[in-house]
Amino acid sequence: MQFTDEHHAFRRTVRDFVEAEIQPHMDEWEAAGMFPAHELFPKLAKIGLLGLEYDPAYGGEGADHTFTVIAGEELGRINGNGVPMGISVQTNMATPALARFGTHELKQKYLAPAIAGEYVTSIAITEPDTGSDVARVRTRAERDGDDWVINGSKLYITNGVQADWLCLLARTSGEGGYRGMSQIVVPTDTPGVTVSRKLDKLGNRSSDTAELVFEDVRVPVSNTIGETGRGFQQQMQQFQHERMIAAYMTVGSVGHALERTRDYLKQRTTFGKPLIENQWIQFKLAELAAELDLLRHYNYACAEAYLRGEDTSRYATIAKLTSGKLARRTADVCMQFHGGVGYMEETWTARYFRDARLRSIGGGAEEIMLQVLARAEGFHA
Ligand SMILES: Cc1cc2nc3c(=O)[nH]c(=O)nc-3n(C[C@H](O)[C@H](O)[C@H](O)COP(=O)(O)OP(=O)(O)OC[C@H]3O[C@@H](n4cnc5c(N)ncnc54)[C@H](O)[C@@H]3O)c2cc1C
Repeated sequence: MQFTDEHHAFRRTVRDFVEAEIQPHMDEWEAAGMFPAHELFPKLAKIGLLGLEYDPAYGGEGADHTFTVIAGEELGRINGNGVPMGISVQTNMATPALARFGTHELKQKYLAPAIAGEYVTSIAITEPDTGSDVARVRTRAERDGDDWVINGSKLYITNGVQADWLCLLARTSGEGGYRGMSQIVVPTDTPGVTVSRKLDKLGNRSSDTAELVFEDVRVPVSNTIGETGRGFQQQMQQFQHERMIAAYMTVGSVGHALERTRDYLKQRTTFGKPLIENQWIQFKLAELAAELDLLRHYNYACAEAYLRGEDTSRYATIAKLTSGKLARRTADVCMQFHGGVGYMEETWTARYFRDARLRSIGGGAEEIMLQVLARAEGFHA
């Protein structure tokens, strides 16, 4: 992958921003169970981070995808996955379909303020009865004149407590399965939208996660993103952005974890020598470093394919699968080599261990990635 001087300068800008504006607040935001998105997002917008690849007509940067790779890697270095996840929901999960398929009016009204950091957004797909099996979504939007009337509920919605609008996946016709779903922009101040619960989680604690209920929620049919009835298919495309950014962020996160563990092991002594001098430890860390390199370059191959305008679903699936596994193993090894202090809440490893676990569940569980791959490989009767 070719990085220009401009790309390197951007990496420096993001790293400096993270160090100045995010890292110092992470402990406070973790304890609060939420980061203040309405304060942080306008600052992110100022350095262009909320609209990197989006059309300048809506305030985007019109930048190439390499900038997204860099942003992901640098945000991944944040000491806690809750904030990068909240940011990437805004940039790579809730807005790509609107940017690609939305009307000019819808983009002016909802995409432009999201890029400016004035609006916080969520992607609302998962429901109490279905997560992995997206074709079983039951939230309904029934047409009444020029409005949709929405009833149902959504679960585990990141940014859901603070969101100004949702990219909602709902059933808009009686057809079952993959047919008859639509993506609809739902402003959260619409009567009938309620946050029924703010959920308490094992990790990603600085990110708020909500259960949302919709009771006779009326939004204009013109809030439909793209084609009515094509919501499932559009969402499958939107998932590729989610899976790519997850893999890019894992590179930053695992790299930072290995750096911090190396530094600790250089100064911690057992049996008269620094822990890092044990070959067993060196080899375990070297193995993770090798796998990190494989992921990084696989990500770059994915990004290059994306830049060429190719379908990246296979890349995104493999990157999501392997990055989740790598993050979990890294969390385990780093905690192990820290010993008792690694198990303490005061050490970064504790949060890292909790947060890493989500990477194989959210955004398509590990088994769903394997299901997609198995189908693509013809591993079925
Ligand atoms: C912290 C957090 C934040 C989230 N944020 C969002 C969000 O912003 N928006 C949103 O819409 N959703 C969000 N989710 C939901 C997330 O995407 C789902 O939890 C995930 O897709 C799994 O769905 P599920 O929980 O219903 O698990 P289920 O579908 O019930 O599956 C349970 C487990 O079974 C296994 N499994 C499932 N299907 C198969 C199969 N066919 N073969 C073998 N094994 C299988 C997997 O291991 C899976 O983890 C979030 C979840 C969490 C925990």
